[in-house]
Amino acid sequence: MADSGDWQKKYKMLAKELEQTEAYSARLLEQLKVVLSQLSLGLQGQDPALDKALRQLLDKLDVIEVATLRSLTREIEKRMRVLDTSRANTVRELSELLRLWAGLIEKQDVPGNLSGALADYQERLDAAAERFYELPTLVRQLLDYQKQVVLQPDAVPTSAELNNDLADNREFEVTAISTRLLDVLQLLRVPCEHTARVHELIAQLEANPPPQQLPPILDDLIKLMRLAGMNLGEDFEDYLLSLNQQLAYVQTFLSDNQAEELKASRRHNLLDQTVRHDVYQINRTVKQSTDINELKMAVSRQLVNIIKTMDEHKKSEEAREARLTQRYQQLLDKVAQMEKEADQVKHRIEEEQLKARTDPLTGLPNRYAYDRHILNELERWERYHTVFSLCVADLDFFKQVNDDYGHLAGDKVLRLMARILQKNLRNIDIVTRFGGEEFVIIMPSTDGPAATQAVEKVRKVIEDSPFNFQGKPVRITMSFGVTEVQSGDTPESMFSRADRMLYQAKDTGRNKALLG
Ligand code: GH3
Ligand code: MG
Ligand code: MG
Repeated sequence: MADSGDWQKKYKMLAKELEQTEAYSARLLEQLKVVLSQLSLGLQGQDPALDKALRQLLDKLDVIEVATLRSLTREIEKRMRVLDTSRANTVRELSELLRLWAGLIEKQDVPGNLSGALADYQERLDAAAERFYELPTLVRQLLDYQKQVVLQPDAVPTSAELNNDLADNREFEVTAISTRLLDVLQLLRVPCEHTARVHELIAQLEANPPPQQLPPILDDLIKLMRLAGMNLGEDFEDYLLSLNQQLAYVQTFLSDNQAEELKASRRHNLLDQTVRHDVYQINRTVKQSTDINELKMAVSRQLVNIIKTMDEHKKSEEAREARLTQRYQQLLDKVAQMEKEADQVKHRIEEEQLKARTDPLTGLPNRYAYDRHILNELERWERYHTVFSLCVADLDFFKQVNDDYGHLAGDKVLRLMARILQKNLRNIDIVTRFGGEEFVIIMPSTDGPAATQAVEKVRKVIEDSPFNFQGKPVRITMSFGVTEVQSGDTPESMFSRADRMLYQAKDTGRNKALLG
């Protein structure tokens, strides 16, 4: 009976111990799950197979068999090795790109001391090829070298070679500026021997050049504007100067951004290494430990470590994001300012051009505008054979009006004439003041006889208009020479035909319209 009592006591004790161990194991398992999920978080997104294995492990931890656990562990180890290799490859690729970049810098016009430094650099690059953490320093160094040489557009490595993200940013920034400059360019009317240059500039801008290629384009733009006869004035020079400064800002932003990206990638890498080290430690502790309490403490310690590392990483990522957001906002403000200024310039150019095409006395298009209209009309004639006529009109004895009543009265007559001509011809007819008291009228879709008829009507209106100066009626008349377009006509041939008819009208008594 004593034996059976002992046995019962022992059994109860064992049962209690087992219960405790089970409860303890359950807690440990929970803890391990937390560790695992934290680890998966750190490793997530690097390799789909690794993600899957970790997920499986996490999902089945309560019911997993030792064999399955082993096979999953093997899989995880394998994937980690793959990750390691791929990181080594990335380091190699990055070093290769740096080598390429250094080579490109060397090809540029570098000062002697820099050329020595670049040779040393290539050597350091060889030595550092296996050390990821040295790359940011190497890139920064190269950026310094790059800043010391004059940038030559052709020699600059394409952004795709260096950093694709950077290329995206850059396009975003410069597109707005390019678009505004394109607007400005499209407004330019330069002498025809320079139109090829304008087209070339347009093509360059349409290709969204990087900021460092913009300054020479701006130089060309200024030259072309001068050729277009624009009085740019100090305002515009100031604008371009400020545009250049702002571009320099964009450039600095982009290289700072690149450095920032590298710093982030270094931090990420550190996190990766730390977490992996901690995983390794846990693995070792689990393998070596015989005491469940010791195991628990070790695991907790590692867990605290991992959480701390992750927290720090999160904080520095948040700080980086805040910095980036702030700088992006500044950049956006700058770009908005540039756009505003470019709009103002565009507006000024439009005004300038309108002024350049308008005769201030009558408000009619001037001779310069006429030159362009006649070219357009002749082009349409050649292409579609749409007939049109040209009329040269000149006030009769106008010198006398000036002599008798003064120049101001003469000016008034010219303004009245402009109004009469415009009012009594069709809207599509282009009435221009060619110079002095001479007007030239382009009459689209009108043949010679119809044009003469229309002009005759105006002649009559002028003849019948009661002009009065200083209370006295003054007779004002006008003579007209009309001609219809002929095949092979040039602006000159057409004009001289009409002008001949005008002289004939003058010679044969004035105040008449003749067709020829
Ligand atoms: P014709 O019938 O042969 O054309 O005689 P005309 O006197 O009109 O011709 P002429 O070429 O001898 O003189 C043109 C005059 O037009 C000379 C100038 O006094 C006047 N004139 C030219 N431009 C202006 C201007 O802008 N304002 C004023 N008030 N007069 C002008
Ligand atoms: Mg005249
Ligand atoms: Mg005259």
